[in-house]
Amino acid sequence: MDFTLTAEEEAFRDEVRAFLAEQLAPGVDKADPGFLAGWHRAVREKRWVGFSWPREVGGGGGSLMEQAILKEEMAKARAPSLGSCFMGLAWVGPALIAYGTEEQKQKFIPDILDGKYQWCTGYSEPDYGSDLGSLQCRAVREGDEYVVTGQKIWTSIAMWSKWIILLVRTSLHEDDKHKGITCLLVEMDSPGIDVRPIRNMGGGAMFAEVFFDGVRVPVENRLGEEGQGWRVTITALAHERSGIAEVESLLRGLEGLKALAAETGRAEEPAVRQRIARVETRIQAMRLNGLRALTRQIRGEPLGSETSVNKLTRANLEVEMGDFALELQGAAGPLVAGAEPVADGGRWQRMALGWPEVVIGGGTPNIQKNIIAERILGLPKD
Ligand SMILES: Cc1cc2nc3c(=O)[nH]c(=O)nc-3n(C[C@H](O)[C@H](O)[C@H](O)COP(=O)(O)OP(=O)(O)OC[C@H]3O[C@@H](n4cnc5c(N)ncnc54)[C@H](O)[C@@H]3O)c2cc1C
Repeated sequence: MDFTLTAEEEAFRDEVRAFLAEQLAPGVDKADPGFLAGWHRAVREKRWVGFSWPREVGGGGGSLMEQAILKEEMAKARAPSLGSCFMGLAWVGPALIAYGTEEQKQKFIPDILDGKYQWCTGYSEPDYGSDLGSLQCRAVREGDEYVVTGQKIWTSIAMWSKWIILLVRTSLHEDDKHKGITCLLVEMDSPGIDVRPIRNMGGGAMFAEVFFDGVRVPVENRLGEEGQGWRVTITALAHERSGIAEVESLLRGLEGLKALAAETGRAEEPAVRQRIARVETRIQAMRLNGLRALTRQIRGEPLGSETSVNKLTRANLEVEMGDFALELQGAAGPLVAGAEPVADGGRWQRMALGWPEVVIGGGTPNIQKNIIAERILGLPKD
C-alpha cells in the first residue's frame, strides 16, 4: 500500500481545507438554519454532493481516492454533512445510476442531490432482518401496477420520508430465494401505507413499522427488472466503504474520552491510560484496514470481507468508549442527560444508549463474525 498522495490529490486536499477554513470560520453556528442553507448551496456548487457520481447525472465525477480525502477532511473539520438526503445519497442514488431508467434518473437524482426530501429504506421485516433474502412482503402485478401487501420494520425516518426504496417478493424460487425479490420505489403518501413509530430506549422515535395494505405502485416505479431486486441492493451498497469518516469520528470521540479522564482526575491511573491506549490502537488498525479496502476498490477488485472486520471493530469500539466514559463519571455515569453532574451535556450517556444503531444497523456482530470466519478464515459454513 502506498500512503503518499499524488500531486493532484495533495492539491485537492488543499482545496478542501481552504474551502472548509473559509466556510467554517471560528464562532460559526453549524446548527443555524441560515448557515446550513448556505453550506448546502456551496457544497452543491462545488459538485461535492454525489462526489463520485457521473457528471452527466449532476454528480462530481470524482475519484474514490479524492472522495476518501474529502470525507476525511470534512470529518476532521467537523463539517456538516455533504447534502441532506442521507439514504438517497448513500444507496438510492447509486442504485438509480446503475439500474434506473432515464426517466427515473431525471425524476429522482436532482432532488436527492438538492436534498429536497428524504428517502427511507424498506428492507427488514419482523422475521427477516439478518436473513433478508427470505423476505415476505408481497407484490402482485395487476396490469400496469404492482399491489403490495405486507410489513416492514425498523424503517429509519419513515415518518419524515417522501419516498421509500422497498424490497418485495414477486415470485417464489425454490432453488434460489433471491431470484424472487424485486425493488420498488414507492411514494410514502400512497393510499394503504400506515407508518407506526417505534420508541427506542433513549426516548427518541427514529424508526417505525410500516404496513402495506393493497398499496398500488406503478410499474414505471420498479427499479431494475422484476426479480432483480437483490442485485440492485447489493450494487447500491457497494459504494466507497473505506470507513475513513467513521475513523475520524472515533478519533474525535477518543479526544473527548481523554479530556473526560483529565476532568475526572483519572488520567494518570495506569489502568485508565492502558484502556485509552488500547482504544487508540484499535482505531488506527481500523484506519489501515479501511485503506486496504479502499486500495482494492481503486484497483477495481471486488470488495473483500475487510469491511466486516471494520463494522465489527467500530461497533465494539463505540460500545467500549460509551461504557468507559460512564465508568469515568463514577456515580454520575448512570444519570440521564441534563442532570447536574453529567459531563458534556449527556453526550456519553446518549452514546451508551445509542449502541443499537452501530451494532445492529447494517448487520449484527454475529453476521459479521460468520462472514469473517467463512470468507477470511476459511472455516466451515454456519
Ligand atoms: C438503529 C437501527 C436502524 C435501522 N434502520 C433500518 C432501516 O432503515 N431499514 C431497514 O430495512 N432496516 C433497518 N434496521 C434493521 C436492521 O437492518 C436489522 O435489525 C438487522 O439486519 C438485524 O435483523 P433483525 O433485527 O431481524 O435480527 P435477527 O436477524 O432476528 O437477529 C437476532 C439475533 O440473532 C442473531 N443471528 C441471526 N442470524 C444469525 C446467523 N445466521 N448466525 C448467527 N447469529 C444469527 C443476530 O446476530 C441477532 O443477535 C435498523 C436497525 C437499527 C438498530
